[in-house]
Amino acid sequence: MSLTPRIDGDRLLGRLDAFARIGATPAGGVNRQAFSVEDRRARRLLAELALERGFTVFQDGIANLFIRREGTDATLPPFLIGSHLDSQPTGGRFDGALGTLSAFEVLEALEDARAETRMPVEVVAWANEEGSRFAPGVMGSMAFTGADTAAWKSIVGADGALLAAELEATITALPEAALRPTGMPISGYVELHIEQGPSLEKEQLPIGVVTAVQGTRWLEVSIQGTSGHAGTTDLAYRRDPMVAAIAAIHRLQTTIMPLDSSARLTVGRIAARPGSINAIPQSVAFTVDIRHPRAEQLNVIEAEVRQVCAAEAEAQHCTAVIKRSFDMPGAAFSPDMVNTVEEAARSLQLQYKQMISGAFHDALFLARVAPAAMIFVPCRDGLSHNEAEYVEPGDAVIGAHVLLRTAIMAASPR
Ligand SMILES: [Zn+2]
Repeated sequence: MSLTPRIDGDRLLGRLDAFARIGATPAGGVNRQAFSVEDRRARRLLAELALERGFTVFQDGIANLFIRREGTDATLPPFLIGSHLDSQPTGGRFDGALGTLSAFEVLEALEDARAETRMPVEVVAWANEEGSRFAPGVMGSMAFTGADTAAWKSIVGADGALLAAELEATITALPEAALRPTGMPISGYVELHIEQGPSLEKEQLPIGVVTAVQGTRWLEVSIQGTSGHAGTTDLAYRRDPMVAAIAAIHRLQTTIMPLDSSARLTVGRIAARPGSINAIPQSVAFTVDIRHPRAEQLNVIEAEVRQVCAAEAEAQHCTAVIKRSFDMPGAAFSPDMVNTVEEAARSLQLQYKQMISGAFHDALFLARVAPAAMIFVPCRDGLSHNEAEYVEPGDAVIGAHVLLRTAIMAASPR
């Protein structure tokens, strides 16, 4: 006979503490970077807990770790829940770990209750989400969803280690986990994560239902003028790229974001050449980071940046050269899966709001191959990628409850 599956809050919070001790930093955070000794210890602990419960453990060629609980219909692809176990060098205890350990708690809750699901349910800990040691991040989910990984073999880490060697050592350190090919059909994916921003806490909402991950585009703008003597060059003869750059940046800051609350535009770096105190610069280069959930809007904003920079350069008799250096389209999550998460939150009488993720997540890539969604819980002061990152224990447990309800509904569709 099966019971109603229930999250064991104390067990989940105890697990969060146990994993926070792996790579613990003196300031209360964690340093558990991808494919490090600490990362291997965390993977081992999770695999041992899984094997103790009788679940099957797998890993793939990029060291994604999977824990499988069978469903009643072996012909159906698994429903995936999870997040990541790696951290930033001065990371927090909850980024990634909360979603991974809550997913494992869901599997245990199903097992405790001897509950049946039609689909198999698998917990996944994606490899190298953070990318702080080996860039790029979200390697595990990129590889799983079919990215070309051939160039990764030669990646050298921030500490000089070779990715290929560290990956191999990470996989062989866990012989209990059978190797499976990278990538497989899945029925869906849901990830619980801390918000990494302040809005849920400010609005006192326990749950954010994430509908999309916004896209990112980087532009490198270079405005070319004519270097000249600061003391002898009359205004009439100046071709000053600094004046043009400042005017362009000011115009962009006062037109893009105030008119579109979903848009983000940031100039994070600016440099003048030759950079002399008593010379008009020859050129001024600056970066523009643009974010928007809608791909077509990224195009509109890029066109606006190009037009504004060209116009302001021309006003100073300068020229603007603009290159696109990075382009990561966002992804909208499946409305059906978003509905399922909302239904789960409503069934628990929880208040929630729909929101867009400002940060990358593995779910961005999963959304391209299967119905996906994310659940956010508040974190104190919106802090993340920070050793002071903190989630109220009650909020962590609430997130796990929503994940459990979501998984039960999604893995046994009516
Ligand atoms: Zn994360």
